[in-house]
Amino acid sequence: MVSWGDGEDSSSEQSSLGADSVNTTYDSDFCGLADDGGSTVTCKHGAVAARFVAFDGCWTGRRFLGCAGHDGEPACDFLLWVDGEWPPALRKSLAKLWDLYGQEKQGRVNDALDNMEKRFKLKDEIEKMHIDLRNSQEEMKKIVEEKQVILALKAQAEQGLIDARAELEQKKALDASSSNMHKCMRIKAEKERDQLKEEKRKLEYIIGDLFKLKESTRAKLKKIKEMCEE
Ligand SMILES: [Zn+2]
Repeated sequence: MVSWGDGEDSSSEQSSLGADSVNTTYDSDFCGLADDGGSTVTCKHGAVAARFVAFDGCWTGRRFLGCAGHDGEPACDFLLWVDGEWPPALRKSLAKLWDLYGQEKQGRVNDALDNMEKRFKLKDEIEKMHIDLRNSQEEMKKIVEEKQVILALKAQAEQGLIDARAELEQKKALDASSSNMHKCMRIKAEKERDQLKEEKRKLEYIIGDLFKLKESTRAKLKKIKEMCEE
C-alpha cells in the first residue's frame, strides 16, 4: 500500500507493463515527485518516483508511480499503480472509446495522406503545366522568329517583283521605241522604193521614146540613101 498526502487508498499492483510505455496526461492536482507522502517511493534508479496519470486504453485515468528519469539516463520501467483496475464495464467502454479514437485518428491520417497525395499530384500537374507553358512560349518564340524571317523574305520578294516589273516596263518602253524606229525606217524605205519605181518607169518611157526616135531616124536615113542612089 502507498499512502499519499490526500489520504487516498492506493494499489500496490505491480504490472509487467513498464511505466515508460504508458501514455500519460498531466494533472496538476496529482502529478509531481512522490516525495510528499508518508513514505518515499523510489524507482529502479533508486531515485524518487514521479506521479503520473495514465491516458492510454483501459488504463485511462489510473494514477501510477513511475520513473522521473535520473542523471540524464532514460526512464526505467518501474511502475506502481496507485489506483486499482477499473471495473470491467469501464475498461470495455474505455477500450471502445480508444478504438473509436484510433479509427478516427487513422481516418484523419488517411485523409491527410490522401490530401498530401492530391497536393503532390496537383504539384506535379502544376509543374507539368509550367513545363508545357515554357515549351509553348519557346514554340511561340520560334513561330514569331520564323514569321519575322518569312515577312523579311516576303518583303525581299515583293521588292524583287517591283524591280522586275520596273525592268519589264523599261524593256517594253525600249521595245516600243525600237519598234517605232523600225516602222519609220520601213516607211522611209518603202517611199524610196516607190520613188525608184517611178524613176524606173519614167526611164522606160524615155528609152521607149528614144527607141522610136532611133527607128524613125533610121527610116529617114534609109530614104535619104535611096534618094541619093537614084
Ligand atoms: Zn528510474
